[in-house]
Amino acid sequence: MTPGFLQELRRIAGDGGVFSEPLEVLTYECDALTHLRQSPVAVVLPSSAAAVQRVVRLCAREGVPFVPRGHGTGLSGGALPVAGGIVIALSRLNRVLSVDVANRRVTVEPGVTNLEITRQVAPSGYYYAPDPSSQQVCSIGGNVAENSGGAHCLKYGFTVHHVLAADVVLPSGELVRMGSEFADTPGPDLLGLLIGSEGTLGIATSITVRILRRPEAVQTLLAAFDTIEGGGSAVSDIIGAGIVPAAIEMMDRLAIEAAEAAVHPGFPAADTVLIVELDGPDAEVRGLFDTVEQICRKNGATTIEVARTEPQRARIWKGRKAAFAAMGRVSPNYYVQDGVVPRTRLPEVLNRIRQLERSSGLRIGNVFHAGDGNLHPLICYDEKVPGQAGRAEAVAAEILAYCIDAGGSLTGEHGVGADKSQYMPKMFSDADLSLMRRVRGVFDPRGLCNPGKVLPTPRLCGEVPGPYRAHPVERDGLAERF
Ligand SMILES: Cc1cc2nc3c(=O)[nH]c(=O)nc-3n(C[C@H](O)[C@H](O)[C@H](O)COP(=O)(O)OP(=O)(O)OC[C@H]3O[C@@H](n4cnc5c(N)ncnc54)[C@H](O)[C@@H]3O)c2cc1C
Repeated sequence: MTPGFLQELRRIAGDGGVFSEPLEVLTYECDALTHLRQSPVAVVLPSSAAAVQRVVRLCAREGVPFVPRGHGTGLSGGALPVAGGIVIALSRLNRVLSVDVANRRVTVEPGVTNLEITRQVAPSGYYYAPDPSSQQVCSIGGNVAENSGGAHCLKYGFTVHHVLAADVVLPSGELVRMGSEFADTPGPDLLGLLIGSEGTLGIATSITVRILRRPEAVQTLLAAFDTIEGGGSAVSDIIGAGIVPAAIEMMDRLAIEAAEAAVHPGFPAADTVLIVELDGPDAEVRGLFDTVEQICRKNGATTIEVARTEPQRARIWKGRKAAFAAMGRVSPNYYVQDGVVPRTRLPEVLNRIRQLERSSGLRIGNVFHAGDGNLHPLICYDEKVPGQAGRAEAVAAEILAYCIDAGGSLTGEHGVGADKSQYMPKMFSDADLSLMRRVRGVFDPRGLCNPGKVLPTPRLCGEVPGPYRAHPVERDGLAERF
């Protein structure tokens, strides 16, 4: 990096658009996986696609690594800075560029939040389907990079099924268009490659998504079970009966306790609760809803609460969507794991997790997209107790091994990032990984765009994995953690 690099960044983004003092960049040292931290040399906040292009060209010219960042809610360290590199934060690219209800599409800049898209089209009776629980704050650029899912992705699919096109600044600084607003485009599916690439192939500067008409009817129930097996078998039986609910979510005792403490949704004090939501034409929903109730009872549901009004439904979802953050009420620190298993193996894997809870001495809450078999164990620990953070990491790794053993995958929706790149060889062969590296090399031959993420490359000097360690400014008494 030449001495004039920061000055050049300021010329592009303005004085208020570049941070380089240690305290200024503190916020950008990690994403929501807070135990991985790295200070960037600088953070730049461009406010247009052209400015992003100029920043990337500057990095390419000077050989400076850069990390794209949306709103920093990622749970796998995807936006973790790289030692000696800069962060390109996209939060100032937050304009809605066009709302085209007649053609059912909306084009936004990447810093627009997921929920804002629905807000834009709700008055016309439309919505944007992928709904990560972080949807109030996460950016659509981050959703594209992570191929984010959410409670309603069981029926409606993930981000990849709803993005039509994107403008992307490649690591060379070139601006290209991937995908199109039409049904299909000739040539390879570059947009498909971009979605889920975790910021390693380029920076999306505009994104066009598909919107859907609100269903005529929505019905939601909450069923409580004495055992996790009861809830797990109900999930398999509902899908086995040919019903595809809009969502099936499961929470266990610890997750229920945390949600109650944080947002008081009025959940029963059960071992497990299942939230099942059906949507579609009114007559269909009413018929299927009866079947779902019967299946829950057959599998031992102790209580079934049907949401009769919109506020009741909103209360149930508030409890579910707040569950991750709510863990802060029952534990000083927690680690969110994300793995997938075939639905039918859910009870078995959940039981292994319960055994691990007993043998590790760490409490583990479970809250997850049961319909997709997408587990989110929340491993509680206290970083102040020596050794606990390391034990939590080992427990998280063990759970991933269970998922892979059961024929599943090491991430369902939170991505690989910096957190899980080391586990990729457990799932992919050398040939698979080498192909992935070659694909990445076509876009980024010099490895400047979000290096050290997804693929198990040797870590760069100064990139420190593992549990939380005090930052130098904390050690010097200049900052403290709350
Ligand atoms: C409480 C909570 C609940 C969550 N629930 C869910 C859930 O239900 N489902 C789910 O899938 N995830 C969930 N997440 C994870 C997270 O919110 C998603 O991964 C989200 O998509 C990240 O968006 P972001 O804007 O915060 O991205 P960041 O964390 O800033 O970045 C994520 C990745 O995207 C890349 N990136 C960001 N913007 C761009 C861009 N414009 N172009 C290219 N690359 C880019 C970054 O380099 C990084 O690799 C949850 C997180 C929290 C904290």
